[in-house]
Amino acid sequence: MLFPSRRDLLSETIYLLRKYGVRPKKKLSQNFIVSPRLLRRIVHEVSKEKPHVTLEIGSGLGTLTKYLAHVSKKVIAIEIDEKLVRISEEALRNYSNVEIIVGDFLEHYKSFREVDVIVSNVPYHISSKLLFTLSEMAFKKAVLTLQREFASRLFAKPGTQDYSRLTVMANVYFTIQKVFEVGPYAFYPPPKVSSTLITLTRKEYSLPVDPSFFDRIVRILFTSKNRVVESVLKNASSHGLIKFGFEEAKKLKSILRKRVRELTLGEIVEIAKVLHEANREIKP
Ligand code: SAH
Repeated sequence: MLFPSRRDLLSETIYLLRKYGVRPKKKLSQNFIVSPRLLRRIVHEVSKEKPHVTLEIGSGLGTLTKYLAHVSKKVIAIEIDEKLVRISEEALRNYSNVEIIVGDFLEHYKSFREVDVIVSNVPYHISSKLLFTLSEMAFKKAVLTLQREFASRLFAKPGTQDYSRLTVMANVYFTIQKVFEVGPYAFYPPPKVSSTLITLTRKEYSLPVDPSFFDRIVRILFTSKNRVVESVLKNASSHGLIKFGFEEAKKLKSILRKRVRELTLGEIVEIAKVLHEANREIKP
């Protein structure tokens, strides 16, 4: 497939914005792709999956959407800005396999059921919510461009400042791979920060506890991530949030002396498993 030059992408973007009198909105993280290298890499990652259905979140002017349409049977795009939807519909009128929906992805995500691949140059202001949302959706692979600082939180190791509920929830469900770093000039207008292209693929194993219980335990733990695990669990138990007694303490032994932020993924799963057995009778 042929990709246009950066110059062509940039002039087409500026042309469309002028023609329709659109000023990119900062509060919607509107930074449009103008890098052929990034475009090619995203399309390559998507085409490897030979998707029937690709979902693009935040399709903007439709620059990327068009190329996704070449490598997917069907593309569904969701874009919150109605004006951009009208512009991209015009640009995509010859692509009969593209459907664009006007709306907020965070409100509509439950309606996307049969999706193979999810693609997004993620609107930065929804990065965190979007990632938690993806953990609830079924798909094979997600190809995401994220703000670099945000992406590094996904790769944070236990004990570091960046290690958080987000790190745990993302890594428990997904294998996360860094594809490459992207400078601000991959977008127009250039954002203040650099980005990282990553892929997420769902892990094969299944959690030994149900996801909503796991979510609840991770929330309880990471609300006090600098405290010692035992005191966090005792405190939660004294508030009636969980059952944590002598038996559970015995089973978790040495883990209890660690600080929450030092827990590995495996240890967090272990805590959830032990508490799940003890907490069957407590309603969420
Ligand atoms: N994918 C396009 C646009 C990236 S900019 C490109 O690469 O050129 C991010 C886009 O997400 C913007 O068009 C913005 O309007 C849209 N957006 C922001 N918040 C959104 C939300 N909650 N749901 C859907 N789209 C959103």
